[in-house]
Amino acid sequence: LITVLLLFLSVVGFAQNRKAYNEIDKKIDKLLSEMTIQEKVGQMTQIAVEILLKKPGSLTEPDELDPEKLAQCIKKYKVGSILNIGITAQTRENWHKWIETIQDMALKERVKIPVLYGIDAIHGNNYTANSVLFPQQIAQAASFNRALVKKAAEITAYETRASFIPWTFSPVLDLGRKPIWSRVYETFGEDPYLVSELGKAMVTGYQGSSSSIDKYHVAACLKHYMGYSMSLTGLDRTPAWIPERELREYFLPSFAAAIAIGAKTVMVNSGEINGVPVHTNKYILTDVLKKELKFKGFALTDWMDIQFLVDRHHVAKDYKEATMMAINAGIDMSMVPVDYTFCDDLVALVNEGKVSMSRIDDAVRRILRVKFDVGLFDNPVGKASDYKEFNGVAHNKTNYEITSECITLLKNTNNLLPLKTDKKILVTGPAANSMVALNGGWSRRWQGTNSDETEKDKNTIYEAIQNVFGSKNVDFAQGAKFNAPSDLNTALSKSEKADVVVLCLGEDSYAETPGNIQDLTLPAAQLELARALKASGKPIVLVLTEGRPRIISAIEPLCSAVIHAYLPGNEGGNVVANVLAGKVNPSGKLPYTYPRYPNYLFNYYRKYTEEVDNSYNPQWEFGYGLSYTTFKYSNLKLSSKVLTEGQPITVSVDITNTGNQMGKESVLLFVSDLVASITPEAKRLRAFEKISLEPGKTQTVTFKITGEQLSFVDATLKRVTEPGEFVVTVGDQKATFNYR
Ligand code: BGC
Repeated sequence: LITVLLLFLSVVGFAQNRKAYNEIDKKIDKLLSEMTIQEKVGQMTQIAVEILLKKPGSLTEPDELDPEKLAQCIKKYKVGSILNIGITAQTRENWHKWIETIQDMALKERVKIPVLYGIDAIHGNNYTANSVLFPQQIAQAASFNRALVKKAAEITAYETRASFIPWTFSPVLDLGRKPIWSRVYETFGEDPYLVSELGKAMVTGYQGSSSSIDKYHVAACLKHYMGYSMSLTGLDRTPAWIPERELREYFLPSFAAAIAIGAKTVMVNSGEINGVPVHTNKYILTDVLKKELKFKGFALTDWMDIQFLVDRHHVAKDYKEATMMAINAGIDMSMVPVDYTFCDDLVALVNEGKVSMSRIDDAVRRILRVKFDVGLFDNPVGKASDYKEFNGVAHNKTNYEITSECITLLKNTNNLLPLKTDKKILVTGPAANSMVALNGGWSRRWQGTNSDETEKDKNTIYEAIQNVFGSKNVDFAQGAKFNAPSDLNTALSKSEKADVVVLCLGEDSYAETPGNIQDLTLPAAQLELARALKASGKPIVLVLTEGRPRIISAIEPLCSAVIHAYLPGNEGGNVVANVLAGKVNPSGKLPYTYPRYPNYLFNYYRKYTEEVDNSYNPQWEFGYGLSYTTFKYSNLKLSSKVLTEGQPITVSVDITNTGNQMGKESVLLFVSDLVASITPEAKRLRAFEKISLEPGKTQTVTFKITGEQLSFVDATLKRVTEPGEFVVTVGDQKATFNYR
């Protein structure tokens, strides 16, 4: 009876969903039938708010929209979307004023379609003053905790919606495989499976789990579809050469996974692959994205990328030709910052028969559907009073929780850590007293704040250490700037009075191309400071705040302990101080391989053939991370030694907390394929789970392995699982099984 009832309910539910869907489709059909070409092309256009301001040069103060510029945008060009990039964080009041003014004007038009405002809310809604700033994605990845990543995205969605914005350009689903790349910190690291899993968690957090998005959620934008992170040089926005097999094996899965759960929008890779700019690649944009993956949302260009087909890539003779190429390839919306050439060109192209009306209708239909899905037609602005929890206690608590699970302990000689709270500590280094260094780029401004002013109620590492250890026990000297020596002698003389030195090194904030570097090694000034302090004989605890794994192979041996904080956000200082004091037991694990040498860069899932000389020797392995307690892995068991299609096996393993305090452990399961038709990777992460264990307790963790999880893309570009022998590894436990 229950089964029948459930079946009945699910049929009713399905019918209701279907009905809602049809109703929206009908509304879209009606709108499309009423719209002129200009109005349709306007929907496909996104303009930067910066050019609509009264003082467009002044990006630092709250500004007002210029009514004439806005009228040109909305009334003349019928623009359907606006974004902002360069401006400083605005107050919620100011956002409200802007969005209300924009929607008022748009809804007075002949065809009433609200504007879709989009923003880079990438680690919290970083463009609204006082919003929660979470750890950057790379740090969140180190938590290996899907639930926390989802929770942080939920709060980000809430605070974005509280700023009257229904769309975020997040998550980044590129692989952080090139350590030098300036956007590694925006990724979930180097592993395709980890990126896919956390990508799904983040998208669910942003959008909620229904296809229509309520007033507390936002539409996600998966970026940068695809292969953007893999430029040959590692420098931002330089060419990549990626065979299709590799594209499908490594770069497509994270996008495919997020699209399968209903991600609404996709932003396209600015770069070129194999000599073809992705913005003109019909195969990637239409055949793969829209047909094969059945993506129903819309594809947005990245910043100015249609113009760059002329100015950067040299594949089109003028902007009009570039527009034709991009739209025909499958671009639905153009992020055009500065003028309206795109609109005029696209209207002309349609009139000349060079872009079909059906292509335009397809693009506009996709865009309108997202506008309906985020509820813009019913609720174009939103009410401030609906969002009382903006930056509230609960949001900050979650921020602290997730940050606590990100921080990764990489070295702890003779259990130097945790420190007794009566220790005398010298806190030094360029990142020691800087909120800018904790947050990195995309924090209140694109390149990150240029001072600590905006976060003055938050604690730097130094301030937090004072709070935890008592200010009389804690002294400070900057010692070095990121790129130059400063008061090295002060640091040295102060170190004499200290029991221990907390040395905070790393990177100053940056984003995108301005973050390109020529040398992955941490700058010499920082090594110099470390060397000088080492001479003092005091034990050094190195705290690294950096957006990519900068080489520290000369610094690491000088330090007794190493804490990797990545870019931990506004709670980073508090959590680092509590890790030092043992109030937080670290449980982060590296989401990338930490390289030891600048020209010796592997991903952990390297091919067997890449380590032919047995020299694989990174500074630290992917998945490495210590705890103040110890975990023993035992009893690895397989439910069967043979796996067949449709007959998965279960892997179980016992984890025991053998230390004397509570701890959390990310249990990672790797599989190695011993023989395959394409040279197999040495191992691949196939499952993970984070657990929490009291001392002395044992938990059995079980994972399912399916044939699909053993599959790879073969030489004919088909995903296959080949029969043969596999090894499964969990911690130090190993077992073999066969796929038949
Ligand atoms: C970046 C995107 C970002 C966009 C809008 C571009 O430069 O590549 O990731 O979403 O700017 O700010």
